[in-house]
Amino acid sequence: MPTNRRFRNVVRIGPVQVGTYYDGRGREKHTAACTAPRCGFSTDYDSRPAAELAARTHRCPVR
Ligand SMILES: [Zn+2]
Repeated sequence: MPTNRRFRNVVRIGPVQVGTYYDGRGREKHTAACTAPRCGFSTDYDSRPAAELAARTHRCPVR
């Protein structure tokens, strides 16, 4: 998960963290980011439920 953003309401779902932040234009964005070292999964979403769904359905390629 990038450290140059200030995430709020960070939750962990399996290996994936979901956090909400404001982008440079003051809009809410929601990021789902996998914490597995070599996975690299990290995607922004416009809605929190979409980000949490992505976290729940993430199938980590790294074991
Ligand atoms: Zn992963």
